[in-house]
Amino acid sequence: MVNVCDIQVMKPLLARHGFHFSKAKGQNFLIAPWVPQSIAEEAGVDETAGVLEIGPGVGPLTQQLCLRAKKVCAVELDERLRPILDVTVGEFDNLEILWNDVLKLDIPALVVEKFAGLRPMACANLPYYITSPILTALLEAECFDSVTVMVQKEVAQRMAAQPGTADYGAFTVFCQYYAQPELLFDVPAHCFLPQPKVTSAVICLRVRKERPWDILDEKTFFRVVRASFAMRRKKLSNGLASGFPELGKAGAAEVIAAAGLAENVRGETLGIPEFAKLANEIVKRREM
Ligand code: SAM
Repeated sequence: MVNVCDIQVMKPLLARHGFHFSKAKGQNFLIAPWVPQSIAEEAGVDETAGVLEIGPGVGPLTQQLCLRAKKVCAVELDERLRPILDVTVGEFDNLEILWNDVLKLDIPALVVEKFAGLRPMACANLPYYITSPILTALLEAECFDSVTVMVQKEVAQRMAAQPGTADYGAFTVFCQYYAQPELLFDVPAHCFLPQPKVTSAVICLRVRKERPWDILDEKTFFRVVRASFAMRRKKLSNGLASGFPELGKAGAAEVIAAAGLAENVRGETLGIPEFAKLANEIVKRREM
């Protein structure tokens, strides 16, 4: 197997194919072999798994996934990588590469088509410029057992944050609504070529099979979450009144009281059960 993390191997390989890194495509390739090994290992990839990889690059993580999974589908936007991937991962017959923009794919349909009978997982060293839309698509697809990704460390901390902390926000609630996050390990900038300006971290999102909250309307729930964080430093009643103009200030205060919360509560201190109660009170008022 070609050691793509060996810079002495990778640089001449890239040069032979006239490849130049594209900043716009988020191309920071791994050159520390322990990183792709640990991602595949700690994600729990095994012969029961069908793995969707986003952005194989020159294939360091792809190799490790192919060594462990029953099937790997890797989606890569940059067709200039085709001849390089032929060399680095061409030997794996459990790999299919899709030359496409991952954001244009129907992910649930792809999972049904490619991973029938397997445990679907997503694994990636993500292109950081589209971290949020990709994570949103992977979680909303509601078809993966787990999503294990390398992202900027701050983003990983936001996903795993607890209520009342500076990192906690609407994106945290979104991620924790769909999954239980577990921070796995940090990856310093020197593990990449070219080096990014930030530290990275690997996080595993174990997708919830069941959500332990009674939420009457998902749309209203997420509207409440967005409204609660839109005015972080203000009382929740201000955020709710502005996010739900139909309530007005008095209505917002009534909803907060009916949900059993203090009048001066701040949105950033609430957990998912409290957001669910608020959303359900708003839905009930609509039905009155
Ligand atoms: N997996 C490789 C590694 O760890 O060395 C490369 C990771 S690099 C951070 C991100 C990869 O995602 C690049 O290969 C880039 O071309 C690819 N990419 C960027 N935007 C993409 C998109 N919209 N759809 C699919 N792949 C994309």
